[in-house]
Amino acid sequence: MAPRFPGRIALACSFGLEDCVLVDVVARHRLAVEVFTLDTGFLFPETQVLWSTLEARYGVRITAAPADLAPLDRTQAPPWERDPDACCAARKVVPLRAKLATLGAWVTGIRRDQTPDRATAKVVEWDERFGLVKVNPIAGWTAADVAAHVRRHEVPTNPLHERGYPSIGCAPCTSPVRPGEDPRAGRWRGREKTECGLHADRASGGGGIPRP
Ligand code: SF4
Repeated sequence: MAPRFPGRIALACSFGLEDCVLVDVVARHRLAVEVFTLDTGFLFPETQVLWSTLEARYGVRITAAPADLAPLDRTQAPPWERDPDACCAARKVVPLRAKLATLGAWVTGIRRDQTPDRATAKVVEWDERFGLVKVNPIAGWTAADVAAHVRRHEVPTNPLHERGYPSIGCAPCTSPVRPGEDPRAGRWRGREKTECGLHADRASGGGGIPRP
């Protein structure tokens, strides 16, 4: 995918199963795609270990997009309780926007069947919001496709997945999911919020990396 874009292209990695699969693909095929993450400061310890494990296993550097964050005010309720949208904006969207301004295209691990917001994701689309090409190579994959790739290539993943966390974000905003619940039910549980604000506004499409 890299040679088709004259500008820089980078994979946004939040250490979910899909992102680990894409790190595996980028590294094994030696694609000229840099890998970055958004370090909110509230990652699970298990996620931080996975970060190091992926770097060691694949010999890639996963850089944190620079974030200009004010120190936490311990006299107030924490930001994820006061206003989670503002918290996500400051710790995810603003750093992402600054990072994407340096790129010609970004790669994400979103899948259409994850949320209604993602149901119309194209494999390659114009990201109106951030003003660059957006590549969603596994948009058409199912969770079973992702699991099969992980097994086949022994991709390192977050051990929290085995403890009831199918979707993992920041520690304060992620809870385990009960049997039968939606895989993202543990994200911002008890609130209407379902997305960080990183992925929105798209139309339908197909293609991508062939399924495992
Ligand atoms: S997921 Fe929670 S802690 Fe993380 S940036 Fe969003 S509101 Fe803040």
